[in-house]
Amino acid sequence: MRIMISADMEGATGVTWTDDVVPGTEQWQRFRRLFTGDVNACVAGLHAGGATDVLVNEAHSSQRNLLLEDLDPRARMLTGRHKPLSMMQGIDSGVDGVIFLGYHAGAGQDGVLAHTYLENSITGVWLDGEPASEGRLNAALAAEHGVPVLLVTGDDKACADAEGYAPRARRVAVKECVSRYAAICLPPERTAERIRTAAQAAMVHAGRGQPRPGGHRVEVEFDATHLALAASAVPTVEQIGPRRVGFDAPTMTEAMKAFKVVTAVAAAAIEGSYG
Ligand SMILES: [Zn+2]
Repeated sequence: MRIMISADMEGATGVTWTDDVVPGTEQWQRFRRLFTGDVNACVAGLHAGGATDVLVNEAHSSQRNLLLEDLDPRARMLTGRHKPLSMMQGIDSGVDGVIFLGYHAGAGQDGVLAHTYLENSITGVWLDGEPASEGRLNAALAAEHGVPVLLVTGDDKACADAEGYAPRARRVAVKECVSRYAAICLPPERTAERIRTAAQAAMVHAGRGQPRPGGHRVEVEFDATHLALAASAVPTVEQIGPRRVGFDAPTMTEAMKAFKVVTAVAAAAIEGSYG
C-alpha cells in the first residue's frame, strides 16, 4: 500500500501568522519542527493502518520546509520546487491514497491564512462552478488518477471545506479559526495523537478506484483588473469580467498546468503596494 502525503504548512499545528510560514524567519524555524511533527504522526498512523510506502511531497512555498533529519525513517520525502504537478507531484505514480496535511481554506473564505496559491491578489477560484480551495483542485486531480483522499488536516475551516470535496475522508482540526491570523491551537502532543489515530483509521479506504477523466472549467478572480488582463495573455484563458478570467481544459492535469501559468503571470504583474 503506497500512500502520498501532500504537506502544506498553513494548516500545521500552531501556525497562525505570516512569519510562521515564511522561509528564513525565526518563527518559521520554530514551526518547521511542529510541521514535521504533524507529518511524523501521520506516517506512524499510516504504517499502523497497513501502509508499506509513504512519500511526503512538500507543498508549501519554496517546498523546502520539513526537516529530513527528523523525518520518520519509514517515509521518503520529495523536497524542493519546480515540479510539474507541484503540490501533487507523485499522484500519477501508482499511489493508493493521498493525505492533505496542513491544508487551509481557499481564497476569499474564512480560515487561518486562507488563500489559493497566491497569498493574496486572488480573491476566488471556481472549479466547475464550485468555489475551489487548493484541496478541491488537488482532490479533482487525485480523482483523475483514481486516487482517494484519505485524510485532511488543518484548521476547522479546512476540515469543513474537505467535507464538500472529499466526504469520505477523515478530518483532523488541529486548531479552531478565530480570524485569518488567529486560532485556538491544540499543543503538538494532542494534535499528533489525533492525526496518528485518524491516519490509521483512514487506511480502510486506501486502494485505487476507477480513474475519472474528463474536462474541467476553472475561473479565477483577482483583486485588480490588470491582473485579469495579464492572465488573459495565457493561451485558452479569456477575460470574462473586469477582474475575472476563465478557461476550459480537457483534463484536470491540463487544468492545473494552465492554472499554474495563470498564477505565475498574475504574480509577475503585481506592482508594489497598489497590487
Ligand atoms: Zn497552500
